Amino acid sequence: MKLIRRIADVRAEVARARRDGRRIGFVPTMGFLHEGHLSLIDRCQELADWVAMSIYVNPLQFVPGEDFERYPRDLERDRKAVEERGVDLVFAPDDRELYPGPQTVVVTPRRLADRLCGLSRPGHFEGVLTVVSKLFAIVQPDVAVFGQKDYQQTLLIQKMVADLDLPVRIEVAPTVRDPDGLAMSSRNDYLSPEERQRARRISRALAEAVKDYRAGQREAGSIRARVLATLEAGGGFDVEYVEVVSGDELEPLERVGDDTVVAVAARVGATRLIDNVRLGNPDPGLEALV
Ligand code: AMP
Repeated sequence: MKLIRRIADVRAEVARARRDGRRIGFVPTMGFLHEGHLSLIDRCQELADWVAMSIYVNPLQFVPGEDFERYPRDLERDRKAVEERGVDLVFAPDDRELYPGPQTVVVTPRRLADRLCGLSRPGHFEGVLTVVSKLFAIVQPDVAVFGQKDYQQTLLIQKMVADLDLPVRIEVAPTVRDPDGLAMSSRNDYLSPEERQRARRISRALAEAVKDYRAGQREAGSIRARVLATLEAGGGFDVEYVEVVSGDELEPLERVGDDTVVAVAARVGATRLIDNVRLGNPDPGLEALV
């Protein structure tokens, strides 16, 4: 496994792999890796025979006042974890390598970014799409794998690839959870033991939404109210949103179906957590709670 800092060196390694006839897979991350990230590598290895991962905390996608400075970083630990998992290349640039000057051109979504997480994080998805398109241009992968945990992000990336005719296949892998249901996240590291306990309510609330759906509930308003009530029971939670939306367009719904996504963002103490479930197809960790 090679740890590479420079764009030119990544290009050279990818060119070599391609000359050898390899199909190139790519997993972009911000590091401080957990099993959720590593599951994306596993999926990528099923779809490609040479896998690159990027580890880069992208300043462009942090809104002023967010946790850019204190976002957890541990490149040495990450390097060991991906080495064991069989990644071929890790690209870990510094800010000057990726952004040598101010960006004159960025990728701005016209739709879908003005809801859910976009409301409290204006400019966030512009930062995400800009860095992902830069990384795609550097690695030129045949396939790239993203996690359903960041549902709105996966949707916007799929729309970007379609709208800009980018020659990459986007694969979405299921959310990986701790045994108690909490979706894994680098930010879980911020939680105190007591906050960690409280955070379990998010996955429990989503499991209840699935239960209600399976029992025949089709009213989006009722499902939303049930999720909200579970989140707010006992306090200690600052709910940012609970949305019941179509999986393809994030449209608010009155009636739900298999493709409906229930998405939640909430603050536990100072930590912002997000999670979601597709009602007709819960990830295995959530299924275990239903
Ligand atoms: P991040 O490092 O948080 O930017 O995430 C990098 C990639 O890992 C994104 O595609 C995320 O959706 C994905 N990811 C993060 N957490 C999880 C999880 N618990 N399960 C599956 N994928 C995840």
